[in-house]
Amino acid sequence: MIDCLFCKIVAGDIPADIIHETETTLAFRDINPQAPTHVLIIPKEHIETINDITDEQQALIGSLYTAARDIAKQEGLAEDGYRVVMNCGEKAGQSVFHIHLHLLGGRPLRWPPG
Ligand code: AMP
Repeated sequence: MIDCLFCKIVAGDIPADIIHETETTLAFRDINPQAPTHVLIIPKEHIETINDITDEQQALIGSLYTAARDIAKQEGLAEDGYRVVMNCGEKAGQSVFHIHLHLLGGRPLRWPPG
């Protein structure tokens, strides 16, 4: 998508601190980190929100979680624990409309979130 920030990162038109890549996913550090480790994991394919995921994209969505698993290990978080969350829609705090998992770790995380 032409006007999508994360599509521009996938295309290499906007720089990002990329730490992990697979055939279908890209992961980079959040520009405004909310924890010592805050990584965004996105599908290379543009999907606006969770509501737009099709049944045919189930494997693609699964690949976001296997990437999260590998990144948690890479970042040394697998043993201590970490949080993986995806916001859907403005009321839930989604500000970039290209789906992304937030992977947060490196500090105690409270529940419920605000
Ligand atoms: P959300 O609010 O769930 O849509 O998350 C969007 C996230 O993208 C926020 O945590 C932002 O800090 C992050 N973000 C926005 N622009 C960039 C960028 N250019 N590089 C890395 N992270 C970004």
